[in-house]
Amino acid sequence: KQATAIIGAGIGGIATAVRLAAHGHRVTVFEAQESFGGKMHQLELPGGYRFDGGPSLFTLPHLVDELFQLVGRNPQDYFRYQRLDPITQYFFADGIRLTAWADEGRFAQEVEEKLGVPATEVLRFLRRSGQAYEATAGTFLQKSLHKAATYLSPEVLKALTSLPQLGLTSTMHQRHAAAFSDPRLVQLFDRFATYNGSDPYQAPATLSLIPHLEHGLGAYYPEGGIYAIAQSLVRLAEELGVQFRYQEPVLEILTAADRVTGVRTAQDVYDFGLVVSNMDVVPTYRHLLPRQPAPERTLRQPRSSSALIFYWGIARRFPELGVHNIFFSEDYKREFEAIFQEKTIADDPTVYVNITSGHTPTDAPPGHENWFVMVNVPHDQGQDWAALVQHTRQAVLRRVSRALGTEVGPLIQAEHVWDPPGIATRTSSFGGALYGSSSNNTLAAFLRHPNFSGQLEGLYFCGGSVHPGGGIPLCLLSARIVSDLINN
Ligand code: FAD
Repeated sequence: KQATAIIGAGIGGIATAVRLAAHGHRVTVFEAQESFGGKMHQLELPGGYRFDGGPSLFTLPHLVDELFQLVGRNPQDYFRYQRLDPITQYFFADGIRLTAWADEGRFAQEVEEKLGVPATEVLRFLRRSGQAYEATAGTFLQKSLHKAATYLSPEVLKALTSLPQLGLTSTMHQRHAAAFSDPRLVQLFDRFATYNGSDPYQAPATLSLIPHLEHGLGAYYPEGGIYAIAQSLVRLAEELGVQFRYQEPVLEILTAADRVTGVRTAQDVYDFGLVVSNMDVVPTYRHLLPRQPAPERTLRQPRSSSALIFYWGIARRFPELGVHNIFFSEDYKREFEAIFQEKTIADDPTVYVNITSGHTPTDAPPGHENWFVMVNVPHDQGQDWAALVQHTRQAVLRRVSRALGTEVGPLIQAEHVWDPPGIATRTSSFGGALYGSSSNNTLAAFLRHPNFSGQLEGLYFCGGSVHPGGGIPLCLLSARIVSDLINN
């Protein structure tokens, strides 16, 4: 088995390391930062607050479990999680509050009571979302779309022929506007486009399968927070002999003729027969392979949205808030026009607040809460971020204070801000985009970079900027596809 280098200890890189080590490869992971996790890092603020830095919603937990099972370990010895119920607390701009219960029937009943919409509307929609997921996920998320063999299986041909009915010609918003009689439900389901950094007014209706992940298959909370996923998998990787080299960014992928031969860092030159890049595919080509022809069309695909996050230590508890809380703006269309057309932040953006101290009490002092407060924003294109951060901070405080009937500003005891340039610097993601390229056009799934290089033998790609896309589950699937390509 080959000596293999992985560039980046993001969740995709860690999962690839586990899989390749399980297949007997000698794996070294090079990480630019002082520790692992990438976007999935954690931070602490003075006063006793801990936060998950990036992802907060966790679905498809079996994709983590299977990494432990692959090497005969019991996942529960490393990593535990529970199904969240309720999943989300929604606060609409008109003052109505809605609880998304884990049970679909109970959620539909809540919608009927609070919004006066027949429960059957929600149940019918969720059933269709589940069918769309079942028809496509196996094909479009779990296999390389760039190998001819993929298209020879009857299962894949069936999925391809079902695509038109699943909605390639209409947008997600049009699908939801047709399915629901109440604009608040349209807004609620349109928000799922942001789960891969897209715009519901442009993204194809096919993405209406995303709600099934949360409502049908469940949202989960890992014991100790999301960072525990990275921690437990690094522990497993180290047990399997994977070497992690921190603060050692790869500066160049070395090649001879048409294959990779190793990597160069500031410290040394290393020989490797296989190299897997977990860093964003754009800087991989631009900085590590400057002499290779880059796949320009792929690299120029529009980026997904980024995020502006305020990490706040809050000197009070709010029993009406759960792990996931959404404070909706009045004008959702305006919000997405601002992000994707005007490259700015609307005056009244929707606010997402994630609080883990209710489940992990050590994340905040007694009587306090750790608020991860996030707004969707465009990726960095040289905007005046200092001004946008100040303006948006005021807008966020106005919206949450109004919804909660309490001035939140004076409760902030500790604060840290992460903006798109900061995300780009810390993770090398192009423009600080959270999910690589967006899914705002019909063929986006086919235009993501493949999990392998068509030019250089021995070069592979995993993580959120390549197939099948961003988000924890898809990064884990990219690792599985890379391992299958290498080992089969
Ligand atoms: P990344 O996390 O992008 O890590 C790449 C790593 O490569 C970094 O550690 C970087 O330092 C390293 N690196 C880069 N260049 C080099 C180099 N030259 N040499 C060595 N190392 C290098 N997903 C969800 O599923 N649910 C959510 O709720 C969610 N919310 C999010 C909220 C925020 C604020 C953010 C930032 C992301 C969110 N995501 C969410 C997306 C999810 O976090 C990412 O899709 C996923 O973590 C990306 O993992 P990755 O494998 O692509 O690697």
